[in-house]
Amino acid sequence: MAFLTVQDLTKKYKNKTAVNNVSFEFKSGQCIALIGPNGAGKTTILRTLAGLLKPTTGSIEFANEKGNSDIRKFIGYLPQYPVFHYWMTGREFLVYSGELALLPKSEAKKRAESLLEKIGISKEARDERISRYSGGMKQRLGIAQAIIHKPKLLILDEPVSSLDPIGRREVLQLMEELKQEMSILFSTHILTDADEISDELLLLRQGEIVESGSMEELRIKYQTAKIEIEFE
Ligand code: ATP
Repeated sequence: MAFLTVQDLTKKYKNKTAVNNVSFEFKSGQCIALIGPNGAGKTTILRTLAGLLKPTTGSIEFANEKGNSDIRKFIGYLPQYPVFHYWMTGREFLVYSGELALLPKSEAKKRAESLLEKIGISKEARDERISRYSGGMKQRLGIAQAIIHKPKLLILDEPVSSLDPIGRREVLQLMEELKQEMSILFSTHILTDADEISDELLLLRQGEIVESGSMEELRIKYQTAKIEIEFE
């Protein structure tokens, strides 16, 4: 049964249609990659699902949830350019994020500690300022912040695009582990990232889904049709 149903989602910015009649279903525990070139509408779809933008038309429904009022409780969202308090240590930042998510201080501390462990921040680095963290460490910290309240769905906007190969590997590995605990929707413009960890791909072009399916299904289809999927 679908855990999230997106039906005919359209988002316009004044006269510009960024997302046009997009529909898809998300099953519990699935990892879906939204893939497309710059300007295809990926960020707009993710921000709309995260409840940060209002659809112009169409609907987003979560199974067993009435209305959209408490969507944020079960969604974790990491924007493409996350903002950190760079003067804080990784530990301080996660405790602070936990308190912002309304966890009691003692709970926030416990949650922060278990997440620091999960995302692989060393004991020493936990007390270092975030400004000293590598790109991969910052991104993993951002993911920890996004899941501080134990969401069912984690939404990640281009989580590996800006990282060097080591950072990219670490983040993909973390996402692979998190797949066991929650559903993940992420965007990328790199086919190999999508291929590596997603169960299903949604190919987006100019605001519309032009293809969907597993990498294997798409490979067979495109090989048969002798059409190349091209990305940057
Ligand atoms: P990128 O990989 O560059 O982030 P994207 O696939 O995430 O691209 P979106 O950022 O969703 O694409 O943008 C989709 C379209 O909507 C683009 O043509 C963009 O210029 C336009 N757009 C995005 N935000 C706004 C806005 N606030 N006002 C007007 N147009 C916008």
